[in-house]
Amino acid sequence: MKGICILGSTGSIGVSTLDVVARHPDHYKVIALTANTNIDVLFEQCQRFQPEYAVVVDETKAPLFIEKIKNSNIKNLTILSGSQALEEVARLETVDSVMAAIVGAAGLLPTLAAAKMGKTILLANKEALVMSGDIFMQTVEKSGATLLPIDSEHNAIFQCMPAHYKIGNKAPSVRRILLTASGGPFRETPVEELVHVTPDQAVAHPKWDMGRKISVDSATMMNKGLELIEACLLFNIAPDAIQVVIHKQSIIHSMVDYVDGSVLAQMGNPDMRIPIAHAMAYPERFDSGVSHLDIFEIAQMDFEKPNLERFPCLRLAKEAIETGGVMPTVLNAANEIAVEAFLNEQIKFTDIAVLIEKTMLYFTQEIVDNLTHVVQNFTDEQSSALNLILAVDAHARVETKTFMEAS
Ligand code: NAD
Ligand code: MG
Repeated sequence: MKGICILGSTGSIGVSTLDVVARHPDHYKVIALTANTNIDVLFEQCQRFQPEYAVVVDETKAPLFIEKIKNSNIKNLTILSGSQALEEVARLETVDSVMAAIVGAAGLLPTLAAAKMGKTILLANKEALVMSGDIFMQTVEKSGATLLPIDSEHNAIFQCMPAHYKIGNKAPSVRRILLTASGGPFRETPVEELVHVTPDQAVAHPKWDMGRKISVDSATMMNKGLELIEACLLFNIAPDAIQVVIHKQSIIHSMVDYVDGSVLAQMGNPDMRIPIAHAMAYPERFDSGVSHLDIFEIAQMDFEKPNLERFPCLRLAKEAIETGGVMPTVLNAANEIAVEAFLNEQIKFTDIAVLIEKTMLYFTQEIVDNLTHVVQNFTDEQSSALNLILAVDAHARVETKTFMEAS
């Protein structure tokens, strides 16, 4: 019996995780659930799963939640609020596994806290990994934490890796990774029409039902860009050895191409409960609740190369990982700001890539050196590296907003 903490339990991945947990009450006990603002869903989840802790990050919503709990039959629930509380519950002794399912940079510190404690980390929150890169991987290595990918592509790649493969290690027998992508809702939209795309059109993904931010990322293909960086880090592989493949049916979730010419693929219906159940049962298997794959119904599978003119965000992500250093942090921060602005109808769909590119160009070595100087006072190497990341993240957000206001 393992104790699980679900960071971001009210989101798409959080809800799917609880669906899997409910199928396996003898394997998992819910210790902690967390939400940013959605106290109604959190309340229902607390009623059903009886956790020991609930975190409401938004401090203005916490009093209402406390009131709701008081007036209910829920007993022995410790309620915390504020973002620090996320780290607190991620570190709890009774927690064995932490599902990192907060969206964006907000998930970094609690996920790192879990990594430092040597927990099993079920990683959905790709932004946390992209922004912190080596720091995250080194923390996992140092503490002996177990890192298991939830992102469907990375989970698929992990399943296709050699027996006993450990995340973070090099796999010399692997020639390259084929990272599949659905191509999102605008795979065939004429490029000149993309400027008119609305938030509602962008979040209507043809194959996956996801949160709003990742849905926009899928439409721009920044999601694949972030995943390319994620794959470089998780599988210790160069960006050149990763080929993005558009596969519109979303049945193959990625492939591993070996030196002997064998190509292994993982297939399944597009439902996140498959990778979630895989990681939760690992190294065993258990039921995910997903219907079986009917290959006769699929009948056909298509593969094509992505067009980087249609999807400039994918090109920018490639450039960021090739440049290295803090550039993936800059890319991620600029993207988070731009996507939020697009969802609030402040900018056009096509402005997302423009703003990210401007912010990346702004981050010259000189700017990074200045920031490095500011954070140098931190004594140990790890905390000064993390502080540089946090400083770059904050600075990139401000710059992206400045570029947005100027345009
Ligand atoms: P979502 O928007 O549905 O849910 C986000 C969760 O994070 C919610 O529980 C919300 O309360 C919490 N949250 C948001 N902002 C927060 C903040 N500032 N502080 C604390 N908590 C906050 O998102 P999602 O689709 O479930 O995605 C979650 C993560 O998983 C993302 O990083 C995404 O890239 C990744 N992911 C999602 C899918 C998918 O199918 N949804 C697939 C692969 C990877
Ligand atoms: Mg994915």
